[in-house]
Amino acid sequence: MLDIKKIVDSLQGCPCGRPHKVDIKGVEIGHGLKARTADILSGYGFPKRLLAVADKNTLAAADGVLEVLRAGGFETELEMYRDLRVADMGECDRIAGICREKKLDGIISIGTGSLNDTCRLAALKADTEFCIFATAPSMDGFASGTAPITTGNFKVTHPARQPSVIIADTSILAKAPAVLKSAGFGDMIGKLTGLVDWRVSSLITGEYYCENIAALTEEALRRVISLAPRVTEESEEAAGAIMEALIITGIAMKLGDSVRPASGDEHIISHYWEIKKLENGLISDFHGRKVGVATLICSRIYHYLASIETVDPKPEKLDWDDIYSTYGPNFVGDVKRLNDPTVTTETTPEIVRECWPQIRRIVLDTLPSDDELLSIMKSAGAATTISDIAVSPKLGLEGVIYHPYMRHRMTLMRLIPMLGIKMDWQKFIE
Ligand SMILES: [Zn+2]
Ligand SMILES: [Zn+2]
Repeated sequence: MLDIKKIVDSLQGCPCGRPHKVDIKGVEIGHGLKARTADILSGYGFPKRLLAVADKNTLAAADGVLEVLRAGGFETELEMYRDLRVADMGECDRIAGICREKKLDGIISIGTGSLNDTCRLAALKADTEFCIFATAPSMDGFASGTAPITTGNFKVTHPARQPSVIIADTSILAKAPAVLKSAGFGDMIGKLTGLVDWRVSSLITGEYYCENIAALTEEALRRVISLAPRVTEESEEAAGAIMEALIITGIAMKLGDSVRPASGDEHIISHYWEIKKLENGLISDFHGRKVGVATLICSRIYHYLASIETVDPKPEKLDWDDIYSTYGPNFVGDVKRLNDPTVTTETTPEIVRECWPQIRRIVLDTLPSDDELLSIMKSAGAATTISDIAVSPKLGLEGVIYHPYMRHRMTLMRLIPMLGIKMDWQKFIE
């Protein structure tokens, strides 16, 4: 069992100065837990009138869990999707509305990904308690207190409700499709470049950073990398360990009250690809698969930057008209808002010049070599090229160059226009 209390206790009086707290009461990962779902929820005092939200696949994977809940004294209404692949604001409002109308006081999300994210925000809106019965170790959002939600196809991370209980039955996780397990691995791999971005930003903008929280993510990442060759096997041990690592990084985000411990440029690139495909009515590949591919690309670019010994930073001269027209009419409003003022105003060319040796050191200390990373990912069955995830060469390149402007967040990629380095972008994507 994952000992959340121990983690939180170990962070009391943390030198970073920020109080580290979580709302989560319990995380239970183990064999055959489905049969104990009602007992576990009762043990944590979870409310009895529930809305269960699932889709056809996740309910089939968790077959029998609703009966277990009903037999254990829970009144359970079911809201079922066919196959929910996008977490949209309209659905969050609708789920919250059902809870209010039927006077339900808890939501159980049976599944992963978009199902969890939709319920996470719906629970906050309806002010109900929230728990997750996980069906696959496919992404790191389980324990998160925020949810990336699309509104008019633009994806924004919103404050949401952290689940009070997470239940993961390893016999179900192990049987999850290999593609979902590899996706979870890809999402974890993204922490590599995410941690580089957090450290670089802290260095040059003074953004909040906590070494102890970064270490939590890093330790979880190290364990997952050691399990890479077993990710696609039907192994309860491997699936359970990956689940635990994914949950820890979600907890790290809540502890640090920041997405930084789990997400950097690689996530923003993935979101860019996603919203641009959605704009054309296309559903993207799984989150963790896109993040994994974007991590490889970012890692190549970061290594290239770190190979440059000295830079001559200048105030950036961006062609904003080009940036706005690339985002297009659906997104330009958000992009303008997020860049007024733009995040590079939080540093100066002098600071970047002075910090460059440390930036190079952060890259080299945090990231494995490109070859090593590629072979780790291949052994875990993860996607490694944009064609694996059905992203065209044009969209692939566009996301890599233009993604930084869809967030107000300092990252190593966002610095490139200040560095005066000519980039041959194409070679990092092939
Ligand atoms: Zn701290
Ligand atoms: Zn992620």
